[in-house]
Amino acid sequence: MTYIVNDNCIRCKFMDCVEVCPVDCFYEGENMLVIHPDECIDCGVCEPECPVEAIKPDTEPGLEKWLQINAEYSKIWPNITAKKEPPADHKEWEGVAGKEQYFSPEPGTGN
Ligand code: SF4
Ligand code: SF4
Repeated sequence: MTYIVNDNCIRCKFMDCVEVCPVDCFYEGENMLVIHPDECIDCGVCEPECPVEAIKPDTEPGLEKWLQINAEYSKIWPNITAKKEPPADHKEWEGVAGKEQYFSPEPGTGN
């Protein structure tokens, strides 16, 4: 089992989650973060930190696609361990449905 980040994170990217992770297994894309499934120790402390409920255990149904995206992109995006400024328009994207269409495979800058 692992925790994963889903499309609720897209264009929100508050990054409250990264500072609590004891094993620093968050990776930054251009407009969302992912968790490395092989590095996550399933501690669950990040889940309540996310204000938009983007972090879920992969045992929840319907998350197969996002598990695959987390696994794939955590291998190529840079590691992020400290909170940065969220996108200027992040409030407008909070809770918007169907954000999957805005997924970007481009990497973030990490830190
Ligand atoms: S706190 Fe939630 S929305 Fe923010 S970066 Fe982490 S997973 Fe994404
Ligand atoms: S469940 Fe724990 S180890 Fe996994 S990403 Fe969240 S804080 Fe990190």
